[in-house]
Amino acid sequence: MGRKFFVGGNWKCNGTSEEVKKIVSTLNGGQVPSGDVVEVVVSPPFVFIPYVKSELRSEFHVAAQNCWVKKGGAFTGEISAEMLVNLGIPWVIIGHSERRALFNESNEFVGDKVAYALSQGLKVIACVGETLEQRDAGTTMQVVAAQTKAIADKISSWDNVVLAYEPVWAIGTGKVATPQQAQEVHAELRKWLETNTKAEVAASTRIIYGGSVNGSNCKELAALQDLDGFLVGGASLKPEFMDIIKAAE
Ligand code: PEP
Repeated sequence: MGRKFFVGGNWKCNGTSEEVKKIVSTLNGGQVPSGDVVEVVVSPPFVFIPYVKSELRSEFHVAAQNCWVKKGGAFTGEISAEMLVNLGIPWVIIGHSERRALFNESNEFVGDKVAYALSQGLKVIACVGETLEQRDAGTTMQVVAAQTKAIADKISSWDNVVLAYEPVWAIGTGKVATPQQAQEVHAELRKWLETNTKAEVAASTRIIYGGSVNGSNCKELAALQDLDGFLVGGASLKPEFMDIIKAAE
């Protein structure tokens, strides 16, 4: 099926210039599997993107953590997709649960953002995931299907999209999904893509997992049939990120 393993590091709103320098130096000093085996993308805060892009080895690609929903202009505090393209940033994370919860980004708004970013030539890591209440209520699949549908409704191609399944209850909590929980949702999401888009989209779209992934639990998760990589938060700021990018070897 040829889905190349994908590991994203989401640095969130963390780091001083000194700390970022250290992370870059750790990444540059580590062994990275060949680009044929794994695609690695790190996502620093906007202000550090130019530094990280210019200093990191070319095996690492750079993503922004967000971008504005349409063409730039009078939107104080926002960063446009055009600006990211202008800086040569290939990737953007859209729909992270922190943006959905803290900045009230609706499914439709996330769908619009994904569509606009793709239209400008960016590649998108699109995040979906249920809260603990939704999981306990047995609505996990309904929730992630609705989030995925809001994206599917707005785009005509999934070629440049990586879908990140990130259960909200697992993000930053140290409470990782069990391999069974992760595989179940990933398989259902792939089935959803098959039913609602095209069989080729389901077969080729990478569905990655995020939520308390670390150097110790990554190998077991990486072995799952429908898991094609990770989006890593906390551990992407630490040297163990180098172990995570080797998880599929
Ligand atoms: C994330 O922020 O996307 C994430 C998965 O965070 P953590 O790995 O810290 O749970």
